[in-house]
Amino acid sequence: MQTDGWVVAGLDNGGNKNNATVLDASGRFLVDELLESPSRVTEGPDVAIEALALSFEDVLRRTGITRDCVRALGLDTPGPASAAGVISSQGSTNFAHPGWRGYDFRGALEARLGLPVVYNNDGNAAALYAHHQLFGPAAPRRGSISAIVGTGLGGGVIDKGQVIKGAAGFAGELGHVHIPMRGLLQPGQPLPHCNCGFDGDAESVASLTGIENNLLPYWLTRYPDHELARTGSAAEAAKLVRSYGERGDPMALAIFVQQARAVGRLFTIAANFTDPDAYFLGGGVVEAAPRFREWFLAKVRESTALKEEQANVARFEVVPHLDMAGARGAAIAALERVHAR
Ligand SMILES: [Zn+2]
Repeated sequence: MQTDGWVVAGLDNGGNKNNATVLDASGRFLVDELLESPSRVTEGPDVAIEALALSFEDVLRRTGITRDCVRALGLDTPGPASAAGVISSQGSTNFAHPGWRGYDFRGALEARLGLPVVYNNDGNAAALYAHHQLFGPAAPRRGSISAIVGTGLGGGVIDKGQVIKGAAGFAGELGHVHIPMRGLLQPGQPLPHCNCGFDGDAESVASLTGIENNLLPYWLTRYPDHELARTGSAAEAAKLVRSYGERGDPMALAIFVQQARAVGRLFTIAANFTDPDAYFLGGGVVEAAPRFREWFLAKVRESTALKEEQANVARFEVVPHLDMAGARGAAIAALERVHAR
């Protein structure tokens, strides 16, 4: 492929797969599809770094870009990690191998490839991509929040086009922000517990883990004859709730109303903290059937308490191309670094 001059690359590292992209100096992506390969993170850092190097070589080959045209690389991984890309010393779900504890992932990839590497966690990278995709050239003057409902609740906060990372890199951990439970829970419904140790934070409700540990066990006491009461493990049953919701099942809809309210309350906190221009929602729940997605988005919007002036300008959007958003956001961060020099 022809490009005028130089490019940057984005590498998205996940629990199972890597995905790679290339972005040219004008901000055009040269890859339109997922370019996945095994991430091999369970085998430890040395193996995983080689897997990323292969993924990088593969995307260059596919786009016909020579290595000397690449000015910088963006890397994104699941957290928790510092702003500089050092994996938490306590390890994490995705980085269980002992070699990952306190590992300087960004520095190691930079040394291996001999190119400047810019780090973001995966939620922040996806948030950066959603922001740029919506605002284009106006991105540096806009703010947004992205909430991505998956196994946990991830995402990020952008202000004036920049990811808010905080002093230690833990800003934008939206899942562990406490939200008001009054009016969200049913009378007698237990306070939902999160794996982080908190009760009543956003992730304890708005995540697959929240369905499995908190919402489904409660709602099955209200619907004891529901088919999901007889479904294998709690984890399997939790994954099936969405398909029931898409079919209009009353118990599943009750669960998703609670999730939508949780996200709306989180967005209300954002409205009072950074007052963003856009509120993005991502994850399985909005990758669902269109009618269900619209229903869910409308519930989130009506649960977000905005002042009239805010409501006049606020945009509610879906995170686009969620499967590619990490690699693309990582590449955007690399491009910004090159432009800032
Ligand atoms: Zn939490």
